[in-house]
Amino acid sequence: MNAKDIIYDQRTFDDKHLTCPRCGWDGTGSETHVAGFYGISKFKEVLCPKCSEYLGNLPRDRSYGEGKLDSQIGPI
Ligand SMILES: [Zn+2]
Repeated sequence: MNAKDIIYDQRTFDDKHLTCPRCGWDGTGSETHVAGFYGISKFKEVLCPKCSEYLGNLPRDRSYGEGKLDSQIGPI
């Protein structure tokens, strides 16, 4: 499965066991580097804390507001 197609579950992500296919890093979701908190992307990127390999996506927090997004940005 391609990393860009992987979407983790925010509720269980911190305890999820992950491995990096590039450098062999092994740990849990809470140890990864999560990027993409800003901008209009629908997802945050999960990156390996050692080599920054792209490991998958996390949905944005719901607090961001889907209705708010619609009214501010409009249909995408
Ligand atoms: Zn790595």
